[in-house]
Amino acid sequence: FLKLSEGLEKTKDKITRQIDGLLSSHDSMDEEFWEELEEILIMADVGFDATHMLVNNLRERARKADTNDPAAFKGFMAEELADLFKGERRITAVNPPEVVMVIGVNGVGKTTTIAKLAHRAQMQGKRVLVAAGDTFRAAAMEQLQVWAERVGAGFYGKGEGADPAAVAFEAVDYAIKERYDIIFVDTAGRLHTKVNLMEELKKIKNVLGKKHPGAPHRSILVVDATTGQNALSQTDLFSKAVGVDEIVLTKLDGTAKGGVVVAIALQFGVPITFVGLGERMEDLRPFNGQDFATALLG
Ligand code: GDP
Repeated sequence: FLKLSEGLEKTKDKITRQIDGLLSSHDSMDEEFWEELEEILIMADVGFDATHMLVNNLRERARKADTNDPAAFKGFMAEELADLFKGERRITAVNPPEVVMVIGVNGVGKTTTIAKLAHRAQMQGKRVLVAAGDTFRAAAMEQLQVWAERVGAGFYGKGEGADPAAVAFEAVDYAIKERYDIIFVDTAGRLHTKVNLMEELKKIKNVLGKKHPGAPHRSILVVDATTGQNALSQTDLFSKAVGVDEIVLTKLDGTAKGGVVVAIALQFGVPITFVGLGERMEDLRPFNGQDFATALLG
């Protein structure tokens, strides 16, 4: 299985090689150095705003350490990345079943991610139910059912066109009766009718809370690393409309756009809890900043 550092190979090529070039071609971290660094980061999908914040923080570290020596740069960068992802993960006791709502645009890998999360929970000895809340796409429901069977999780779904909020409500009811430990609720991700989708998600969220105290206990947004800046605008959209507790970043394998990780952390402060490094149910890795920094900077 791919390790995080292997999954980040292309991102590393893009960022690390260029940073190495920058470091070897400058004797001092002067104005020109910081400008070139900005260019490298923007090109690597760190994003405009996040790049400015990151470079300012790095300059501040250099100023405090009273050094302009490029040899100190990687140390500052490692500290900065470690700080950035240090955010505490809140762990709250919940009355089972834990209800997890999974949201995101079609095609980002939402169904696969639910399978991966379900597999992981099963491996931890939990009884897992997945609910097909994307009643808009029959194929999506079928695919989710196939995954549930493969993973060995329970499945709850109704026909195409059923009211997604009703499916969510009944699924949680079923999970309570059948004593499941955790339920993953899939949701629709059609983007062309943005407004309706956000209203639908709000309704599902409401209904879940009425059925089971504290539900949804977590809302996980799935975003696709290969879409670069689109991942950022989706994070913005979903977090404003329904709130996002965690992000799973998919398809980090084989993309050079891994810099988007930094942008998400800097701009939204939403923790990235897992990253997808392939298409199989085992290809999910817990994410932490220290490993990311090491994988990226070597
Ligand atoms: P959904 O429309 O969001 O439910 O997307 P799917 O789960 O159907 O995934 C869309 C495609 O992306 C499928 O071909 C998946 O196998 C693929 N995919 C999902 N996650 C990953 C990942 O982490 N890495 C790679 N390489 N492919 C992935």
